[in-house]
Amino acid sequence: MMEHELAAARQAAEASPGHGDGRFPPLLKVGVFPDSVEAQFRSMFTLIEEEALQSDPAQAAAIGGIVTRSNYRIPAELMDRLPGLRIIATNGVGYDGIALDHARRKNIVVTNTPDVLNKAVAELAVGLLLALLRKLPAADGFVRTGAWEDAPFPLGGSLAGKKVGIVGLGRIGKEIAQRLVPFEVDLSYFGRARQEVPWRHFDSLQAMARHVDVLILSCPGGAATRHIVDAAVLRALGPLGLVVNVARGSVVHEADLCHALANGIIQGAALDVFESEPLGESPLRHMSNVILAPHIGSATHETRRQMAELAIRNLVSFFTTGRAVTPVA
Ligand code: NAP
Repeated sequence: MMEHELAAARQAAEASPGHGDGRFPPLLKVGVFPDSVEAQFRSMFTLIEEEALQSDPAQAAAIGGIVTRSNYRIPAELMDRLPGLRIIATNGVGYDGIALDHARRKNIVVTNTPDVLNKAVAELAVGLLLALLRKLPAADGFVRTGAWEDAPFPLGGSLAGKKVGIVGLGRIGKEIAQRLVPFEVDLSYFGRARQEVPWRHFDSLQAMARHVDVLILSCPGGAATRHIVDAAVLRALGPLGLVVNVARGSVVHEADLCHALANGIIQGAALDVFESEPLGESPLRHMSNVILAPHIGSATHETRRQMAELAIRNLVSFFTTGRAVTPVA
């Protein structure tokens, strides 16, 4: 669906009394959205909250789609409770929280929002790496608390000259790599396939960890990548090694990571994603060699607006033509 068709569909929806009044089936909203993003969806669709479904199970029959975000789960059991469910549109590129095989068996289309978030996630990855190397959160505290009056701040590390290995050189991984080139780093990547890029390919993650100073994780979550960064990989990375994770918490064996960070097996980590989110009580919260972020890879006004726009295009296109714009392969 083209931009002008979407605009026409939106105009038609807004012209009718009460948006989503039958033009499109109601959507179940799973997850919390920023107000501006929720307003984007409400301009086109009637959204039903999960709690409303519990208090009035009859509403389930009317629901034709689910709108969600990639850090929420859509289990098979939820799909089975919605007899009219035809599409699940996630705002995000990862869909490891959606029971995809079950959706396929039931002919439910799953869509995501690839590409529009690449730049934001890549910016965060580079920002986290620089913040880790130059200890920016600690430096900020050092000035605020007046500690600067008593002693100089400890030295950090340079990015220039570092060997950086990207785990998952896909859409986001390539944007990270391109942003790192001007920093004069030595780049390599780990993935199942060798690609036509000027950087060194490793088909063994442990071998790449042994070679590099920094591991940046930007591969999908799910069974195939679960815990691929484990004690052996962290040992291979070594005592000066850094890990930046903007992929999924499941990619890292978090207990092994905590052990490595607490015992000098690696030097530090910057983490946007965790095995369990939001991060509850965890040793990570008390480590000074760690920078933590609350899964904010795509969390900019501009990017979230574009993601919602693409999710809406998927829904409108599917309900009007039967074809989604960016279905999950
Ligand atoms: P993509 O274009 O599909 O790229 C994924 C890359 O990972 C590919 O280069 C692929 O290369 C590699 N890969 C896939 N399976 C692998 C495996 N089993 N072992 C090793 N490498 C593997 O995906 P993308 O759009 O860049 O997104 C990547 C991930 O970033 C998402 O799935 C999501 O989990 C995460 N993400 C996080 C945030 C955040 O807020 N922090 C935001 C957006 C996305 P090969 O096929 O050659 O193996």
